[in-house]
Amino acid sequence: MIYLDNNATTRVAPEVVEAMLPYLSEFFGNSSSAHTLGRTMKQAIDQAREQVATLIGAADTSEIVFTSCGSESDNWAIRGALASQPAKKHIVTTLVEHEAVRNVCRALESEGYEVTWVGVNERGDIDLDALREALRPDTALVSVMLANNETGVLFPVNEIGRIVHERSEAVFHVDGVQAVGKVPIDLTNVDLFALSGHKLHAPQGVGALYIRKGISLPSFIIGGAQEQGRRAGTSAVPNIVGLGAACKLAQEDDDHSRIRDLRDRLENGILENIPNARRNGDAANRLPNTSNISFEYVEGQNILLHLDQLGVCVSTGSACHSTTHESSATLRAMNVPYTAAQGSIRFSLGRYNTDEDIETTLRVLPEIIEKLAAMSPYAEVSSGARKDV
Ligand code: PLP
Repeated sequence: MIYLDNNATTRVAPEVVEAMLPYLSEFFGNSSSAHTLGRTMKQAIDQAREQVATLIGAADTSEIVFTSCGSESDNWAIRGALASQPAKKHIVTTLVEHEAVRNVCRALESEGYEVTWVGVNERGDIDLDALREALRPDTALVSVMLANNETGVLFPVNEIGRIVHERSEAVFHVDGVQAVGKVPIDLTNVDLFALSGHKLHAPQGVGALYIRKGISLPSFIIGGAQEQGRRAGTSAVPNIVGLGAACKLAQEDDDHSRIRDLRDRLENGILENIPNARRNGDAANRLPNTSNISFEYVEGQNILLHLDQLGVCVSTGSACHSTTHESSATLRAMNVPYTAAQGSIRFSLGRYNTDEDIETTLRVLPEIIEKLAAMSPYAEVSSGARKDV
């Protein structure tokens, strides 16, 4: 299998499995128990908290709270920030957010909040002027992503945070789920920052929320006093240990330039050899592992299935859209034409990809595209035979 879908999820690293195993066998206690076994579990959580804090550059470990996933972290950040400022009813976000932010903001619109949706240019870069103009005295929250899950395009969150804090009293939340472990994190102007274990070689089912000291955030899950009384629920110690180990691995083992080289080789090979292929997203300002390419006039889902038959795993835009035919909101916001958006494939690389993975993909892909293009209802248009469609 050639796995080029690391933005959907990642393989759990062997080092992470090794760190977790004792907590799936002999160390099975409840971290809230006062006995020795319970304290052992608590120590493991403390160490993981330190590992997460170190990777993202939090000033204090108490600013890290473990959650069940990135979506929980995003939901909590958004609803919590609003709950602590009940008089303010305005939110600023962007048109290209992941569903974990976009759909919460949509739900909030139906609950009486006003949302300003800031756009992006055709390369996926945020419109900073529009963001600046959107800020108002009643803006409670600004929520933007650091790295786009579909294109990998990076938003300048440090600058955005500065603008937000200079021009408003709003809380600034960053969805950092796709960025952690792939690019350095700078929390200088960030109040809340969401991350998720399974995007960086930790298991699925664990995430964290960074809450800057001084930011008041009511609990989202109410119950016991776990996580400094901020997030109830018996701690998932094996997963938390896994997240800590994954953060340590990301800190120690910087593989990004190799991954970037592989990504560039794949992307250049495709763009040079396949007609009607175009990149979606800023070439320079993006994650080192992500390449989003439209094969215009060809159905992306068909490309995915053909690649899958040959053991190559990719996504159409985003894994979350794989059951709908609507173009992805991100590509629509970037003004990618419908016939290109429908043929978009996200290749997302990771630490276990090899030169051979790229060579094989570059070998099999042109034939797949040629075959599908010939079957496409737009075949004549794409070959230039008819231009009036
Ligand atoms: N935010 C972004 C940018 C994502 O890419 C994802 C997952 O794909 C999430 C949030 C949600 O994270 P999780 O799958 O851990 O709930």
